[in-house]
Amino acid sequence: MHPFALSRADDPAQAIAAQERDAGLAFIAGGTDLIGLIKDRAALPERLLDINCLPGMAGIEPLPGGGLRIGALARMSDVAADAQVRRHFPVIAEALLAAASGQLRNMASMGGNIMQRTRCAYFRDEDELPCNKRRPGSGCAALHGLNRNHAIFGWSEACVATHPSDLAVALAALDAIVIVRGQAGERSVPFGDFHRLPGRTPERDTALERGELIVAIEVPASTEACASHYLKVRDRQSYEFALVSAAAAVALDGERIRSARLAMGGVAHKPWRLAAAETSLRGLSLGDSNGLRSAIAASFTDARPLAHNAFKVELAQRAALRAIVTAGTRA
Ligand SMILES: Cc1cc2nc3c(=O)[nH]c(=O)nc-3n(C[C@H](O)[C@H](O)[C@H](O)COP(=O)(O)OP(=O)(O)OC[C@H]3O[C@@H](n4cnc5c(N)ncnc54)[C@H](O)[C@@H]3O)c2cc1C
Ligand code: SF4
Repeated sequence: MHPFALSRADDPAQAIAAQERDAGLAFIAGGTDLIGLIKDRAALPERLLDINCLPGMAGIEPLPGGGLRIGALARMSDVAADAQVRRHFPVIAEALLAAASGQLRNMASMGGNIMQRTRCAYFRDEDELPCNKRRPGSGCAALHGLNRNHAIFGWSEACVATHPSDLAVALAALDAIVIVRGQAGERSVPFGDFHRLPGRTPERDTALERGELIVAIEVPASTEACASHYLKVRDRQSYEFALVSAAAAVALDGERIRSARLAMGGVAHKPWRLAAAETSLRGLSLGDSNGLRSAIAASFTDARPLAHNAFKVELAQRAALRAIVTAGTRA
């Protein structure tokens, strides 16, 4: 095990300053991803700063207008069980409950969840196989290797990994905002801009800069959010990362879709919003399966499957269809 020093932060400004000036220091919340990364030698911080005692970061508070501010240190279990989340944002509660195991959810924080790193086996493996995310410039073993679990959208020659968080897919569908605090104060990052596509720098997963701390995630209220659903397809039901997943939210006029939000997991380096499908779904009846299928297909014309994951193109469209129909039954 890589040795590290552990200390505890009780002041956010000091924690942020410490991380900005020290490249060997990492924040630790639940530790459920970071400790695994250290064991796999995919992260080798020399100092861990425990942020669990930072004040005001664990609550779930209503926002004016019906939205919610969820503290970055709120535990996944607590958010999934929260009455307001379950009633007004069921897609968030369902995504959380579909993730990891009960024990992990009790430890794992909301901020840590959206910061977790890819489960690409080459990235997590100690072997010296090429991985640009683990060792920038070394190549990508998955591009022509085992890539069944990898991306079908937005990948680059440098990296074909997917983002593993279920929660992030739900937050992307709901246009959540990540509240980030740095030395210069707070900034709001729209969820769609928080995670990055790999491009030539796959070692960077997010828009977070060194010396920035996620303090909260804000979820705006919407009619669609109340009628929402998360569907996850995985190799085993007990606990497993998504092969593909769909977060859907709809507003209806009678039986017809007035507006829809659709985001997918397991298909790209970041949660993948189906913008073309959202436009095409407007005005369709929930009972019009063929129409819904064609509308969803509008977002798959630019799918680029790899050697082992062409099945995801069909699977993802079926998941999106089921998620939309189930969400519609809640409207
Ligand atoms: C066996 C197993 C199965 C899993 N299955 C799933 C699954 O199916 N779906 C799913 O979504 N997840 C799954 N997970 C991942 C799990 O949800 C994450 O490990 C967890 O959410 C991370 O939260 P944490 O608080 O433990 O983060 P930590 O491990 O403490 O931190 C993770 C990263 O986030 C950074 N960080 C933490 N908090 C902040 C903050 N406030 N600001 C800035 N940076 C921060 C840390 O520095 C670190 O880089 C699984 C994990 C395991 C071990
Ligand atoms: S897909 Fe990304 S994480 Fe996986 S081996 Fe390639 S560069 Fe590494």
